[in-house]
This record gives sequence, structure tokens and C-alpha cells, in this order.
Amino acid sequence: MTSEKLLLVGAGLSGAVIGRTLAEAGHRVTVIDARAHVGGNCHTERDPATGVMVHVYGPHIFHTDDAGVWDYVNRFARFVPYKNQVKTTTGGSVYSLPINLHTINQFFGRTLRPEEAAAFIEEQADTSIENPASFEDQALRFVGRDLYEAFLKGYTMKQWGCAPSELPASILKRLPVRFTYDDNYFFHRFQGMPEDGYTTMITRILEHPNITVLLDTPFEPGMPHDFHHVFYAGPLDGWFGYDKGRLGYRTLDFERFCEQGEWQGCAVMNYGDVEVPWTRITEHKYFAPWERHRGTVCYREYSREAEPGDTPYYPVRLLAEKALLGDYTARATGAERVTFVGRLGTYRYLDMDVTIREAMDTAAAFLAARQEKKAMPAFVHAPL
Ligand SMILES: Cc1cc2nc3c(=O)[nH]c(=O)nc-3n(C[C@H](O)[C@H](O)[C@H](O)COP(=O)(O)OP(=O)(O)OC[C@H]3O[C@@H](n4cnc5c(N)ncnc54)[C@H](O)[C@@H]3O)c2cc1C
Repeated sequence: MTSEKLLLVGAGLSGAVIGRTLAEAGHRVTVIDARAHVGGNCHTERDPATGVMVHVYGPHIFHTDDAGVWDYVNRFARFVPYKNQVKTTTGGSVYSLPINLHTINQFFGRTLRPEEAAAFIEEQADTSIENPASFEDQALRFVGRDLYEAFLKGYTMKQWGCAPSELPASILKRLPVRFTYDDNYFFHRFQGMPEDGYTTMITRILEHPNITVLLDTPFEPGMPHDFHHVFYAGPLDGWFGYDKGRLGYRTLDFERFCEQGEWQGCAVMNYGDVEVPWTRITEHKYFAPWERHRGTVCYREYSREAEPGDTPYYPVRLLAEKALLGDYTARATGAERVTFVGRLGTYRYLDMDVTIREAMDTAAAFLAARQEKKAMPAFVHAPL
């Protein structure tokens, strides 16, 4: 195999995993990132004043059913078991999420057992809605008005910046209710937190003699000339200079505050009332419950539409974006010597485990294409 010069744009999980796999296969890899650190949106750093490990771009909990991905991350970090137990404040009370038997019994002042609760929720559900078209219809059909208004409506409005009646029903795919006292947010077999944070893990992934990392280095259109192939984890529309307009993203503003002791007593507290402008407060020391700190660092989180220059967090993917996305995707598909990867490159929300799986598959596809002397496609995972 000929050793090629490869450019990876983005030192997040996508760039790191693809880069590592191809470096191990003997290629010479350069990873660039516009930011001053590796790790992308998973970046964690210790707050110098309190020693708390802070999830700088919002809370990240690792969870997966993919044993290959779990083995992969455990090569580079020690994972400590972690259960994500979210609370919500709504209508002047604190409840457990996702809506479970405890939430139902507390909210309605009942002592229902699982089957009774299931029958009770079925009575609450608005069965007159036969074909739910919107998120609101779907929620009313599943859980009825009381639970919808307390737990889903306000939070969703704040997160998406529009009425739930304007959002597609597909956002709420399944019944958002459990009829047991299980309050573990995720169902996945493997769940944990890297003991020394995600940035340490991603730094270790990037530590290889064939990898050069350049930080504070934004991608420039002339760069690909010096490389045989580019893997681009930056924004798809950014590759084209946003010439047809910008794909919509939600961004987050974090209002950071520090206190002594414990502030809210849990890692994540959602706020369901629409009158409260923030969506949630995260208290970062609870993401590492095995550590002890006297001080505490909290983020009050606000969601809004991303403007040019903001960090793009969540792809909106509503109807207007899909048309524009179709246009950029069609043009990107014709591009040569570049593969668009990851969250921004394919304009999809991806959890970390899916990002890693896709990155492993992309690197494998590249090695196979070279072996078989075939062209490497612009997308291994298409945006649409
Ligand atoms: C608020 C929030 C919470 C999340 N929580 C979880 C969670 O609990 N569990 C979970 O599994 N997943 C979670 N995720 C998803 C997780 O963040 C992603 O799976 C992961 O970050 C995707 O990695 P990536 O490398 O594709 O993208 P990114 O992490 O976004 O990395 C892309 C990198 O490319 C760089 N870049 C972009 N454009 C350029 C350019 N032009 N030039 C140079 N560099 C550039 C960026 O600076 C960035 O570092 C969360 C996401 C968000 C937004």
C-alpha cells in the first residue's frame, strides 16, 4: 500500500477516529481544527478554581449498545459507570424524568402500579387524534394534555424556538413514558464517563507517530492541493462558502456560575415552564460523582437560532433546511478527493457512539477503496 498524505478537518471524534485508523494503516495524517483544543463539542477541561471537570459545550454522557465502539473507547480511557438521572422543575414541583411511574404517581397524586398506570395514561390520551401530524398532536395522542403541558410543551418550545404544533410528529417517535420506577435516561447496555474527561481520551486517540495535529488552524480552500484526500468534519454548507444560504442550527448560550458546596444536588435539572427562559441547569461535578470538590460549577443553558459566527449545535432539519440540504448534498456528491463526515459534514444529530461507529466505517471504506482501486465516495453516510 502507498502511504498517502491525508487531511482531516476537525479534531473532534470523527476526525480523531478516522485519523487514528488511517495512521495505523501507514498513512500520514494531518488533523486541523479552528479551535484551540481537540475534542470538538465533547471537549472537557478542569476549572482551575474548583478542580471540577467541565463539559465545555454541554453535558456529554457516553452510552451505547455497540460492543465494538465500547471496546474502542476503552482502549483510550478508563470508563466509570454512570447513570444519567434527569430531574425537571415544572409548575412549582420537582419530578423525575423521563416520565416514569414515580412522575405519574407524584403528578396525579396516585399510587398506581404499572398496569394501572398504563390504563390510566391511555384514558388521558386524546384518542380522537387518528393521524398525528405535529409533535403536539403526537404528544396529546400519547399522554394527554396534562402531562404534555407540564413535561413536553414548554421545554420543546424553548429548545426549538417554535410551537410544538409547528414541529413534525416524527420528533416524538415513541411513547415518552415508562410504567416502572426506572429513571435511567438511556437504555443502552454500556454507559459511562471517561475518568479523565473526553479531551484526554481524544488526545490519546490522536497520539500516533503518523499524526500531526494543528490547532487554531481553520480550513482554507487551497489546503486540499497538498493532500491526496480530505475528510471534512466541518459544516457542509461551509465547504461551499454558504453560497446558497445557511443550513439552520440551534445554538446554546451557557451562563456559567460558581458556588461553594452543592447547588442543585443533581447533574441535570430541566425547566419545563415556558416562563423560565432557560431550558436546563447542569452542575458539572455530578458528571464525575467519584470526585470530591468543595466548589461547584453550573451552566444555565439557553437555546436559540444560530447566527453566523455562533457554534452550530443541533441541526434543525425542518422542511426549509431539507430543500437546501438536498442542493448542497447533490453538489458535494460530485466533489472529488473529499469525504464529508460527522455531525456537521453530514448535517445530522449524531450521538458519540454513532459518530465513532461511522468514523470506523468511513476509515474502513477508504482502505477498501484504495485496495480495490475504486474512488472514495463523498459520503459514506449521506445527509438525506
Ligand atoms: C449540547 C450537546 C450535548 C450532547 N450530549 C451528548 C451525549 O450526552 N451523549 C452523546 O453520545 N452525544 C452527545 N452529543 C453529541 C456529540 O457532541 C457528537 O456526537 C460529537 O461531538 C460529534 O463529533 P464530530 O467530530 O462529528 O463533530 P464535532 O465535535 O462538532 O467536531 C467538529 C470539529 O470540527 C472543527 N471545525 C469545524 N469547521 C472547521 C473548519 N472550517 N476548519 C477547522 N476546523 C473546523 C470544529 O471546531 C470541531 O472541533 C451532544 C451534542 C451536543 C451539541
